[in-house]
Amino acid sequence: DPHGRVPLAGSGHHPPFDVHAVRRDFPILQERVNGKQLIWFDNAATTHKPQSVIDRISEFYRRENSNIHRAAHELAARATDAYEGARERVRGFINAPDVNEVIFVRGTTEAINLVAKSWGSKHVGAGDEIIVSHLEHHANIVPWQQLAAEKGAKLRVIPVDDSGQVLLDEYAKLLNDRTKIVAVTQVSNALGTVTPVKEIVALAHRAGAKALVDGAQSVSHMRTDVQALGADFFVFSGHKVFGPTGIGVVWGKREVLEDMPPWQGGGNMIADVTFEKTVFQPLPNTFEAGTGNIADAVGLGAAIDYVNRIGIENIASYEHALLEYGMQKLGEIKGVRLIGTAAHKASVMSFVLDGHTTEEVGKALNQEGIAVRTGHHCAQPILRRFGVETTVRPSLAFYNTFDEIDCLLAVVRRLAAQRG
Ligand code: PLP
Repeated sequence: DPHGRVPLAGSGHHPPFDVHAVRRDFPILQERVNGKQLIWFDNAATTHKPQSVIDRISEFYRRENSNIHRAAHELAARATDAYEGARERVRGFINAPDVNEVIFVRGTTEAINLVAKSWGSKHVGAGDEIIVSHLEHHANIVPWQQLAAEKGAKLRVIPVDDSGQVLLDEYAKLLNDRTKIVAVTQVSNALGTVTPVKEIVALAHRAGAKALVDGAQSVSHMRTDVQALGADFFVFSGHKVFGPTGIGVVWGKREVLEDMPPWQGGGNMIADVTFEKTVFQPLPNTFEAGTGNIADAVGLGAAIDYVNRIGIENIASYEHALLEYGMQKLGEIKGVRLIGTAAHKASVMSFVLDGHTTEEVGKALNQEGIAVRTGHHCAQPILRRFGVETTVRPSLAFYNTFDEIDCLLAVVRRLAAQRG
């Protein structure tokens, strides 16, 4: 190969970037587990961090650490520039029109709670309806359920077909003039289904409802363009896109955010306080009460730089080839039942194996240094829709290889052969 790329076992597919060089950027991939080199197939739970992200966080604490009050002194100016630089990187990454529409929170869970509590308190009342899909993570179910219980509103659920794709016709029937908001995931963390979010958002708007897209599982696998998507809110977690834990994002349309009361109160979000009345700061500070996670926001900015250097389209096309290969070969193993076979999927290969509990499969994989999640993946309703309580869930990122998939397949084949 003229570009020095090593052909990979399995398919001979050449990734549009040097996957072996990329792997060297992630120090944890050199770890050994049970005497074997770590194979990380738990990317849907969290992703690993390139050295550039680790270095950026360390640099922040070594040279820039301060609270963010620009005018006070030199380090305050550095910290403020670093934090606001990260906000601008997020804006570019999701193609938001206005940097002030980007609000830093702890993660997707806090993001959805912010919207449900703030937007919901003002705009949802008794008899109103909230729509989610059957695919949702508990983080996109429970806050809406709490809101519905508090307000006397109703939670309605878009059903899925046997492949795990949402049924748009059934969704259209759920919409009516009581529908206030539709909250759906762009990629299912349990099945990997890529949902038709653009159509879902457009139908919500036609019914006069707002739309929130949970991007926790999509931002690391496909281009995000919130303007093309048209949703009112887009939320994600930094740790699932090669950034640190404890930092995430709510993006909202300016006019929608400006029509929401602050959620938490305190410092940073106020312009003036007397005991009689508080005047709040404009966006984004309205929703950033107290000292935020400054260093990890800066780390998220570095993660976005890293992803941009590889190119999200390059990532998407390589991962697509990995996923097709893994799904096909897994499906050929006698006794494997794939859970989630939608035509449009990203990253996730959920399955169960006849004659073995999911815990047994996970243990056998861990013995070989292969990390997968086994369990309900914080998405019990969708697993129960397929008649299971748990699955084995390998999930891919761009630093995975065909060789690694072959290692996983070898373990599953060995267990399958032991059956009965
Ligand atoms: N939504 C989806 C689709 C997820 O996969 C996750 C994480 O697993 C979340 C929400 C919650 O994200 P976090 O735990 O980072 O708040």
